[in-house]
Amino acid sequence: MPVVFCAHGNPMNAIRDNRFTRFLRGWGPALPKPRAVLAISAHWEAARLAVTAAARPETIHDFYGFPEELFAVRYPAPGDPGLASRIESLLRAAGLDAAIDAKRGLDHGAWAPLRCLYPDASVPVVQLSLLAGLPFARHVEVGRALAPLRHEGVLVLGSGNLVHNLRTADLFDERERAVPWALEFDAWVAASLHAWDLEALAAFMDRAPQGRLAHPTAEHYVPLLVAAGAASAPSGAPPRVSFPFEGFEHATISLRCVTFS
Ligand code: ZN
Repeated sequence: MPVVFCAHGNPMNAIRDNRFTRFLRGWGPALPKPRAVLAISAHWEAARLAVTAAARPETIHDFYGFPEELFAVRYPAPGDPGLASRIESLLRAAGLDAAIDAKRGLDHGAWAPLRCLYPDASVPVVQLSLLAGLPFARHVEVGRALAPLRHEGVLVLGSGNLVHNLRTADLFDERERAVPWALEFDAWVAASLHAWDLEALAAFMDRAPQGRLAHPTAEHYVPLLVAAGAASAPSGAPPRVSFPFEGFEHATISLRCVTFS
């Protein structure tokens, strides 16, 4: 299986029809059909790595101020408790502390894009948390521990945004334009992925132009590090990196998506 990083942006993308959501609806069927998805979303941080194991994960509406129509959305994909145990063992085997969370459902970082990728909700979904404090290099290690899942029919899907600054975002601007510093950071990430410089990607706060502006908090960036780790071959050989979608919304939210194959 490939590994993907999927942008999500505005939660309304779960129900909107625009160039980005039309892309997502075509991307799902274009990827090899997974037996399950492991989603790593910007919207779940935990003190220790946690893996969802509910058989019927609920749809969490972890936002406010949006229309009733969005709160009415349910994404009834089944969970996969067996896969959750497998993930817990892979993490522990790599020396990472991990726990099962039997209750938690799917947050919108997972279900909003998945609703576009797999509208019939037939593919089981398991979610893995980020580590609170967001240690960057550690999240690359988390990803590396998950790499065997690629050979087990599991789609590892990081969900965030490669530029995510809500303070500078213009939420009323629905045009696809971006401010120059946001374009600059987005291009730096793309070039670093092409050069397969994981060290630079993990040190983006110091090494990238405008790192702190692009991510006043890093939770929307860190799922990329997990995905890149999962796409790393033990030999160190770089994967093929492609960008099936490039674009922006609200001036400072990147919608760039990444396929590692
Ligand atoms: Zn988000």
